[in-house]
Amino acid sequence: MIEEKGILFVLSGPSGVGKGTVRKALFENNINLQYSISATTRNPRSGEIDGVDYFFKNREEFEMMIKENKLLEWAEFVGNYYGTPVDYVKETIDSGRDVFLEIEVQGAMQVRKAFPEAVLIFLIPPSLEELKNRIIGRGTETEEIVKGRLDTAKVEIEMMSAYDYVVVNDQVDKACERIEAIVQAEHYRRDRV
Ligand code: 5GP
Repeated sequence: MIEEKGILFVLSGPSGVGKGTVRKALFENNINLQYSISATTRNPRSGEIDGVDYFFKNREEFEMMIKENKLLEWAEFVGNYYGTPVDYVKETIDSGRDVFLEIEVQGAMQVRKAFPEAVLIFLIPPSLEELKNRIIGRGTETEEIVKGRLDTAKVEIEMMSAYDYVVVNDQVDKACERIEAIVQAEHYRRDRV
């Protein structure tokens, strides 16, 4: 057994596909991954906690993080900034533990450049109709935001071929099993079991 650096896993997928739900279910299963908490300028949704769900920042603070190279990647998504604090990712990987990012596609492409070894997983809905229902069903966004998210989702789906794996989210537990299988396979592939 060769214990080297941890593996960086990235989960993306169109808005409304259920990335957040799948991610939470994965971590409830005690999967051996460290979740990297992102920074964002969007407002907290009800029940979201600063430092748990996101590090909530204003635009000035976020732009300062960009300027000071504190982000591994960042993107503007439907009018807000989102980004991954770089120190946590580097320190965790260097200590031999795997890191899991849940980010949108522009950010994932930046991670691919910065960490060519990263494993990119794309989560897709069973159909576009289902995706629309899920975005509307969330009920927390205005009509304009729903439309923005749907349009963005269609563009995002076109990026699917840039990913290493595509996982269908037909049922949360099945999607989790597929992701866990990918994590295990990547460890076998790199002889890090
Ligand atoms: P939400 O506002 O629904 O929490 O997230 C909107 C989108 O931003 C989702 O696709 C989510 O995966 C993505 N996102 C969350 N954190 C980050 C991040 O650190 N970087 C990037 N590029 N996207 C992120």
